Amino acid sequence: MTHPDILIVGAGVAGLSLATALGREGFRVTVIDGAKRPPRPTADREIHDWDLRVSALTPASIDFLERLGAWSAIPRDRTGCYTGMKVWDGHGSGRIGFDASEVNAAYLGHIVENRLTLQVLLQCAETSPGVEVRWECAMADMTLTDSGWEIHCEDGSTFCAPLTVGADGARSRVREWAGMPTRDWSYEQSAIVGTLKLASRHQDACWQAFLDTGPLALLPLADEDKVAIVWSLDETQHEPIAALSDEAFVSALNWALGDDGPQATAVGPRASFPLRQSHAVDYIDEGLVLVADAAHSIHPLAGQGINLGLSDVRVLAEELTAGKAKGLAVDSPVALKRYQRQRKTENLAMMAAMEGFKRGFGSRNPLAVIARNVGLSLVDQQAWLKRWFMGQALS
Ligand SMILES: Cc1cc2nc3c(=O)[nH]c(=O)nc-3n(C[C@H](O)[C@H](O)[C@H](O)COP(=O)(O)OP(=O)(O)OC[C@H]3O[C@@H](n4cnc5c(N)ncnc54)[C@H](O)[C@@H]3O)c2cc1C
Repeated sequence: MTHPDILIVGAGVAGLSLATALGREGFRVTVIDGAKRPPRPTADREIHDWDLRVSALTPASIDFLERLGAWSAIPRDRTGCYTGMKVWDGHGSGRIGFDASEVNAAYLGHIVENRLTLQVLLQCAETSPGVEVRWECAMADMTLTDSGWEIHCEDGSTFCAPLTVGADGARSRVREWAGMPTRDWSYEQSAIVGTLKLASRHQDACWQAFLDTGPLALLPLADEDKVAIVWSLDETQHEPIAALSDEAFVSALNWALGDDGPQATAVGPRASFPLRQSHAVDYIDEGLVLVADAAHSIHPLAGQGINLGLSDVRVLAEELTAGKAKGLAVDSPVALKRYQRQRKTENLAMMAAMEGFKRGFGSRNPLAVIARNVGLSLVDQQAWLKRWFMGQALS
C-alpha cells in the first residue's frame, strides 16, 4: 500500500495543476488516473489535427499557470490570443462588442487545446519534487479508515492518505462513493464541438450568437482562419443536426450564423456532449475534498469551467500551505473549511449568472426578446457598464 500525504484521484487539468502546486510546497503527492498516459500532441495544423476540447483561459488562469511554470511551455503558435468579443441575439438587432483596449488590457484571454495544457502540466507535475503520477490506475472503490480513505484500484493497487482529493471530473466516483449529494439540473441540451475553417479571418475575436435553439460560440484558434465551435442545441434539434453530413452541417451552421457572424467553408471531426449543471452541496468531508468539475460543472456558454476549476486549485493549495506553516495536519478541517467558504461563494455566483443568461436568452417570449435586444444595445453604449462586464470576464 502507498501512503502519500495527499492522494489526488484524476489527472486532468485540475488534478495535475494541484499536484504541481502542492509538490513545490513540500507535500508528498500521488495522482492516479484510469486513462492511458496521454500521447504527445501533434504539431500538425490541418483541420482534423486540432483537439476538439478547447478552453478559453482568462488572464487570471494564465497567471496561475505561469506561476506553475506551465504557461511558458505551451507553444505560442498554438494558442489563439483574443482581444475582442462579439455577441449578438439571433432573434433581433441586439448586439454588443467588447475590446481589450476599452479596459486597457493587452488581451482578454487565450483559446488553448486541452491536450496541450494537460501535456505541459504533466511535465510540471512529474518534475515537481515528491509528486508521482500513475496512469491506467482507475479507482474502483474507497472505504474510510482511521488513517484516511483507503482507495482500491482496478489494477489491484491500494493507496491511503490523510487527505484524498476528488479531481475526477463531472461524474466524480469519489463524490459518489463518499455519498456527497449534488444539486443537478439538465439543460435538455447537448453541445456539438469541432474545428471550422472560415472564409475570412476570425479577427482575434470570440463570436457568440444567442439563437432560439441555444448559444453558438466560435472560438479563435492560433490559425487566423480556424475556430473551435461549441454549438449548444435543444435535444430535439441536436440529433438531426449532429447527424448531418459535413457539407450539410456547414450549410446549417452558416444559416444559423446569418449575416452577423463569419461564414464557414469546412468542418473537421465533430463530437457531442450532454449539458448539465451540477453543484456539490459540500466540497469537503472527513479527509476528503472536491475540486473543479468534481465539485461543480457549468454550462459552457461563458467558457468558465476550467477557469473556476483553476481558482479552486489555487485557493486549496494556498490554504493547505498556510495550514502547514501553522503546524496544522494536512486534513485539518480549518484549512478545508476556509477553502470551501471562498470557492463556494464565487462558484455559486457564476452558476447563478449562467442560469440567468441561459433563461433570458433561451426564451422565445416576444417581451423577453425585446428586453434582451434593448438591453444588449444599451450595455454596448454605456462604457462604464461594459468595463464592469469585462472586469468579470478577465478575473
Ligand atoms: C463542450 C464543452 C466545452 C467546454 N468549453 C470550455 C471552455 O471554453 N472554457 C473552460 O474553461 N471550460 C470549458 N469546458 C469545461 C472544461 O472542459 C472542464 O471544466 C475541465 O476539463 C474540467 O477539468 P477537471 O480536471 O476537473 O476534470 P476532467 O478534465 O474531466 O478530468 C478528470 C480526470 O479524472 C479521471 N478519472 C475519472 N474517474 C476516475 C476514476 N474512477 N479513477 C481514476 N481517474 C478517474 C479521468 O480519466 C480524467 O483524466 C467545456 C466543457 C465541455 C463539455
